[in-house]
Amino acid sequence: MSIGNKIAAVRRTLPAGVELVAVSKYHPAEAIREAYDAGQRVFGENRPQEMKAKHEILPRDIEWRMIGHLQTNKVKYIAPFVSMIESLDSERLAAAIDKEAAKHGRTIDCLLEIHVADEDTKSGWDYDELDAFVRGGGFDAYRNIRIRGVMGMATNTDDETVIRRDFMRLADCKRSLADCFGPEFDTLSMGMSDDYPIAVECGSTEVRIGSDIFGAREY
Ligand SMILES: *Cc1c(COP(=O)(O)O)cnc(C)c1O
Repeated sequence: MSIGNKIAAVRRTLPAGVELVAVSKYHPAEAIREAYDAGQRVFGENRPQEMKAKHEILPRDIEWRMIGHLQTNKVKYIAPFVSMIESLDSERLAAAIDKEAAKHGRTIDCLLEIHVADEDTKSGWDYDELDAFVRGGGFDAYRNIRIRGVMGMATNTDDETVIRRDFMRLADCKRSLADCFGPEFDTLSMGMSDDYPIAVECGSTEVRIGSDIFGAREY
């Protein structure tokens, strides 16, 4: 199946209002171009320099989303153009994004990445720490970032009960934090190739799909 057909197949399974982020990390610009020609405009990458390089050679109306762990010293590569940073997972990173966004006269949309999976390796805020930080006005000073919602990943397992538990937890986190933000806090980014139908059942507003569209990645 072509990339365009795969995108169409994924789209058919998504309810109206659920956004598709095509995760193009490790795939060449030609593959992204194919997806673009099939109408896809929103792409996810997890390495800042790779995103920057692709941004420079691909059409300007692509929306680039950072979905991988972001080091503070690499924010500068993407700050001029990134459309959303979904992996905001620390105060230090918030400060760095705010500073770089201000340099470019921008306000950058961000999602709060929350850790709910069983694996220790997955990044993200511990919910209780995040809750205390938000309620203490932790983000108030950062005028050049706009918090749009929550992002997370489920445990990597075949056990649907565990996956569903993780997605319900992310949905709960978003609900609990909603009163701290305005109506722009509207995004719940969860669901990848192997688990997105469950994420959608749990209220996902945005799925991030790589291998189902572009095939397996070669690292
Ligand atoms: C790689 C990645 C995805 C996409 O994973 P697939 O299994 O290829 O669909 C989604 N979200 C994040 C944060 C990722 O790093």
